[in-house]
Amino acid sequence: MARHTMKFGGTSVGSPEAIARVVAIIGDHLKQGHELVVVVSAMAGVTDMLLESASAAASGRKDSYAAINLTIAEKHHAVIDALIATPSDRAAIRAQVDELLRGHSELCEAVSILGEATPRITDALVSFGERLSSRVIAAALTVNAIPVKQVDSNDFIVTDNRFQNAEPLWDETESRIVDGLLPELAEGVTPVITGFIGATPDGTLTTLGRGGSDFSAAIFAACTRSDELIIWTDVDGVMTADPRLDSRARVLPYVSYQEIGELAFYGAKVLHPKTVQPIITRDIPLRVRNTFNPAHQGTLVGSRSQTSETVIKAVTGIRDVSMLTVSGPGMLGVPGIAGRTFLATANAGASILMISQASSEQSFCFTVVDPLAQSVKEAVESELQREILHNDIDSVDVLSDIVIITVVGAGMRGTPGVAGRVFSLLGEHRINVLAIAQGSSECSISFIVAEDDLERAVGELHTLALHTIENDRVNGMASPV
Ligand code: ASP
Ligand code: MG
Repeated sequence: MARHTMKFGGTSVGSPEAIARVVAIIGDHLKQGHELVVVVSAMAGVTDMLLESASAAASGRKDSYAAINLTIAEKHHAVIDALIATPSDRAAIRAQVDELLRGHSELCEAVSILGEATPRITDALVSFGERLSSRVIAAALTVNAIPVKQVDSNDFIVTDNRFQNAEPLWDETESRIVDGLLPELAEGVTPVITGFIGATPDGTLTTLGRGGSDFSAAIFAACTRSDELIIWTDVDGVMTADPRLDSRARVLPYVSYQEIGELAFYGAKVLHPKTVQPIITRDIPLRVRNTFNPAHQGTLVGSRSQTSETVIKAVTGIRDVSMLTVSGPGMLGVPGIAGRTFLATANAGASILMISQASSEQSFCFTVVDPLAQSVKEAVESELQREILHNDIDSVDVLSDIVIITVVGAGMRGTPGVAGRVFSLLGEHRINVLAIAQGSSECSISFIVAEDDLERAVGELHTLALHTIENDRVNGMASPV
């Protein structure tokens, strides 16, 4: 017998049909005698709608947030109507849903009176998505004679108060999960837990950041000492490239924790970048699988690093980023300019996706998401005001129509010449590289090119990845275990 944690993403719980599949998957799994912890996302689209309701409320658009409330109600009512047959069961779950939806309306009302949706209130508002979905899914499982208990994760995941992107406080979280969840699990009850949500030690709701249910699931997997974490989503697994950029993209049977970390950070949308953090130390294997194609084995993620020749496994691209360059003759040998720049960037609320410095120390550049580029520029210019005045620094330039491309593969560690191959390939195809950075883990190289070159660059590098994977296959080294 094994204990598994499973997480179902927004599309996997996005319709009555999808939830019926989820019920079947959970039922099958329990029949095999495994213990199960289930973590669920909000129904597809609901988190976006809730965020929209927050801004509608803040600007006093009552019609708009009321309409959103209605749409969300209809989505959940449709699930109840389709999957819960007995009238009394139906009435009971409908009452819970409607009660929550009333809470959402009241909160929107309060926000519209205040005229402002603070991060704290926004977290309370978006938490309704998972609170609703977990209840209807638990009800659908119950009517299928599966013993479950709906659980609100804010009772278990204790976080700091960085609203909208909270970090768990590990010790307190672990002891709550061990004390509160393990006993019932041992009795064969499957908890159906809200993803995404936590709470500060004094009980104020927080969220773990967009897409954070993957991270929630990993936290529960680690703290319940699960033997495996399975992330059920709407694609077959982690792919060699974005299939919208290159139709030759294939599912990778195996990637290491480190590789998936780089892939997630650099734009492969399949997992939240923090997902591996809780499971890596306990060496819990992670599998990414497709709810809509459960026969597919998916991608296995684990600690075994690359033993094969595969050097480049996957290529990703991030759009909607801007590159800021700080340059000037007076930077040479002056300590602290980079430090102050990055601090100013952090204070402007932006995280840095990539940093690169030329060895001449005359300039360095870094990348942030587009919407924050202008405010980061202003923050850095005001921080470096004195240096700019003295002409030690020219100015802070922003370049917006660029993309970050990352090639990932643990095999490049210790394999000389990978960067050379990557950049000569780009050179051959006349793709101009604006900046380069190699991750210190040596399992990825990132660089910046013009947005117009994105598809071509990904295509050419992907050919290289497919080629090495094919070599591995021929040499019998591509099998996942
Ligand atoms: N519902 C949240 C979101 O859409 C969390 C998640 O689904 O992972 O961001
Ligand atoms: Mg997701």
